[in-house]
Amino acid sequence: MSRKIHIYGNWKMNQLTDDIYNFFDEMADDSLAELKCQGGIAPQFPHLSLVKEKAMPVGIKTGAQNCSHKTSGAFTGDTSPEVLKDLDLDFVIIGHSERRTVFGESNQLINEKTLLALELGLEVVFCIGETLAEREADKTFDVLRTQLDEGLKGVPASKHGDIIIAYEPVWAIGTGVVATPEQAQDAHAFIREHLSNNHGFNRKELIIQYGGSVKPDNAMGLLSLPDIDGALVGGASLKPGDFYELLRIGSELTP
Ligand code: PEP
Repeated sequence: MSRKIHIYGNWKMNQLTDDIYNFFDEMADDSLAELKCQGGIAPQFPHLSLVKEKAMPVGIKTGAQNCSHKTSGAFTGDTSPEVLKDLDLDFVIIGHSERRTVFGESNQLINEKTLLALELGLEVVFCIGETLAEREADKTFDVLRTQLDEGLKGVPASKHGDIIIAYEPVWAIGTGVVATPEQAQDAHAFIREHLSNNHGFNRKELIIQYGGSVKPDNAMGLLSLPDIDGALVGGASLKPGDFYELLRIGSELTP
């Protein structure tokens, strides 16, 4: 595996201002800036600038957990990807399973958001994954194929390098149940194959993160697999010691 490992934390709707200061105080370590993997953190919107101020000096990217499908206008409560760019943020997570299930986001809406965010110059962490019922009905690959085909429709080849795919089986998110190495590797290999054969992605450069109960004690097993290039981490990314350890493991595996 010759790709740089990408470890991104999704803080979801957690962390107060003091928690963020404490997080970075505890992470403060000269070796952080020397880590070889790419780190990233996605806090809640009001904390984006604070996190950016703390994360940028140590080479960690900052991104949002969601964005609007429009640049401006009458969309009360939404946040424009243009504003994310204006704040000089690095990435945006689109299509997280909580957006799909709790907020009813469709593949079409996710596609609109993705196209706009890419056009504005943001990196997109594009999330896909099957539910337990879909896995048990042997529909995993069908679901992933549809999410990829509909969600990435119309993405120009010039933007392929700005997309990270996060494979997050819904049954593994926040449950403590992690996909087996075989389940994760099979899904990642399918995604890489599908995107290179049918969407023209460069199979060697495509970054595919695994997400779903990643912790320091299971990260090495997952990140050593041939088609896993990183992790999107929820719970463990809130703990500075765990997040640091994940970055350290990712750096050990980055050539
Ligand atoms: C996530 O929120 O994307 C996630 C994978 O959460 P957790 O690591 O807590 O399962």
